[in-house]
Amino acid sequence: MAKFCPLFSSSTGNSIYIGGGEDSILIDAGMTAKQIEQSLFGIGVDADSIRNIFITHEHNDHVKGLKVFTKKHKARVFMTAGTYEALAKTDALDNVSECKIITDDGADVGCMFIKPFAISHDCIEPCGYTVEMSNGRKLSVATDLGIMTDTVLDALKGSDLVMLESNHDVNMLQCGGYPYILKRRILGVKGHLSNDACAETLAKLLETGTTRFFLGHLSRENNLPTLAYQTSVCALSMVGAQEGDDYYIRVAKPVWDERALIL
Ligand SMILES: [Zn+2]
Ligand SMILES: [Zn+2]
Repeated sequence: MAKFCPLFSSSTGNSIYIGGGEDSILIDAGMTAKQIEQSLFGIGVDADSIRNIFITHEHNDHVKGLKVFTKKHKARVFMTAGTYEALAKTDALDNVSECKIITDDGADVGCMFIKPFAISHDCIEPCGYTVEMSNGRKLSVATDLGIMTDTVLDALKGSDLVMLESNHDVNMLQCGGYPYILKRRILGVKGHLSNDACAETLAKLLETGTTRFFLGHLSRENNLPTLAYQTSVCALSMVGAQEGDDYYIRVAKPVWDERALIL
């Protein structure tokens, strides 16, 4: 059995719990350690059972609670060489916990095999992750990416569950109050993925057998959960798929709300 639960998902903070059998990991620790502990407690998980954390990139909304959490719970941290290089210049890492560089070879953590894949974002070496469980299930996470690339699509293919960024509605962003420079950053190839780009990708992934989707990292200012949801459901209906029959889709809320998916 595998359990996938986004604890937090937004530009305020991100952390995902993945559990399978005896082993459990976090992807990112972008809220305070206390908030992460509380949300884990809410899904019946002892924070001390998290022995490994995988970081996607160095932005604060992905590492805010990392230092305190790893020190307190003696967790190991995995990240790309570029992310390590960036974080080593900050005080986001404690000097006690073990840091490991993850490469394309991936890493075995108990019953899980975790592999990074490159994404396009405005930092040194950002990545998404695929998690292959010993029972054959594959779960994948790709948020904070300006464009969908063949590399990302290839990595996600064959997943049972995918959490993909559905950051903004392009019209809401363009007509909204963000400064021009910020709009350009978000819309750029190293920014964030729009609802439309997400929806288009989900339709492709459904064809490769993915049946469970989480929409993540929604913008509070430039999106609405119902809009993100409807955009993807509409794209999936265009390829003849019906929610509930052919796939399940959930919007990951900014703060944990018991919406885990069990595989
Ligand atoms: Zn982010
Ligand atoms: Zn980011």
